Amino acid sequence: MNLFAERNSWIDTENAFKIGPHIVRVEQQKKAVIKLNFGEPDFSVPKHIKDEIKRQLDLDNTHYCDPKGLLSLRTAISNQVNETRRLQTNPEQVVVFPGGKPSIGFAQQVYCNPGDEVIYPSPGFPIYESFIRYVHAVPVPLHLNESENFTFSPDQLANLITPKTKLIYLNFPSNPTGGVASQSLLEETARIILERCQPDVRIYSDEIYEKIIFDGQQHHSISSIPEMTERTIIASGFSKTYAWTGGRIGYAVFPTVEEAEVFKRLNINYFSCVPPYNQEAARVALESPLSKQSVKEMVETFESRRNLILQQINEIPGISCQKPGGAFYLFPNISGICENLGLIKKHHSLPAEEQSSPANIFQMFALYEHQIAVLDRKSFGKIGADGKHFLRLSIAAEQSVLEEGVLRIKNAGEDTNGLDRFLKERPDLNST
Ligand code: PLP
Repeated sequence: MNLFAERNSWIDTENAFKIGPHIVRVEQQKKAVIKLNFGEPDFSVPKHIKDEIKRQLDLDNTHYCDPKGLLSLRTAISNQVNETRRLQTNPEQVVVFPGGKPSIGFAQQVYCNPGDEVIYPSPGFPIYESFIRYVHAVPVPLHLNESENFTFSPDQLANLITPKTKLIYLNFPSNPTGGVASQSLLEETARIILERCQPDVRIYSDEIYEKIIFDGQQHHSISSIPEMTERTIIASGFSKTYAWTGGRIGYAVFPTVEEAEVFKRLNINYFSCVPPYNQEAARVALESPLSKQSVKEMVETFESRRNLILQQINEIPGISCQKPGGAFYLFPNISGICENLGLIKKHHSLPAEEQSSPANIFQMFALYEHQIAVLDRKSFGKIGADGKHFLRLSIAAEQSVLEEGVLRIKNAGEDTNGLDRFLKERPDLNST
């Protein structure tokens, strides 16, 4: 008899967290690591939001509360979604979760029977792919094209839709690529979905980076397109917009109250409710006129860092990087570096159990030998990712730290001797 149930081998993980023990190990042994692995704004939670958390604690707002989310917050969310997307949702369609993450896997549990197909962007937030097999559904990656600024063509999506399709994830602005969807792409996508999908196929539109968008562009949501409102789950949260990843507040707005109630039942089963003092502060984040300025300052900082770091990274021999239109990541193509370092050949000659991908070896080598933490392509969806050589680096760090990080990537890209030493020792395989 096995200790663990079989399903534990069907769920994957998020590499941004998994790489943590390696970073600790490197820092214990050598010098400080430049950490560009996490998707976390390097800003403080705006003061007016922090003040409200403290005020709520002093009011003893620290007890169990509505598992669906406080009505005051759900009302603020519904109002905000209606205003920004020209919709007419009501607070009963809204459910609050501990972060943007839980509703991703819950959606698969709620909508998918075994054998149903789930379409999701790849590269994409790893939790879309991670959960699918856990619920006995079938993963169907929608590969984003570097040449189309990491969007997809409507035909590509059309070719993936079958009578078994049950759930389609979209994520704009995207993690890890920073891709932004144009209104015309969303309209074309909607046309295909309306033509080819049954009305009970759900579109999970992950819009958690909705406010982090550059070059004067506007955020567009597929939910605003006529007839898509009834099929779209709008998911977003407070982690990125308000630099509040530890607050654990996210939400989803469902096409029907009936669906929201099913998700509420999962909340009751898993965690009862989300801390009410944080929920009241999240309401303030949405309603206070002060929030607009804080978010604007943060986004302008990300945009100027993007401009600078994009230029510097594109100057490194063997790297080319598209210009992200939103979020706070760069997703450079490192095929040239893999070529220059002979990584593709070296990777193939490793024993099977040590093989991951050339970009993963570069990720680990860069961490152990050059103390720079970034993530490889396979951290964002493994299926169909062979032969694709990319890294994700977060630009949510001070400019000088980012510049040092870019320099370390450049040095790693030229360090053939260091790579040979690393491959001989493979210190990364002996860590937890
Ligand atoms: N969705 C996307 C696209 C993300 O990038 C993230 C976090 O990185 C999440 C959801 C989860 O956010 P949270 O930290 O609020 O759970």
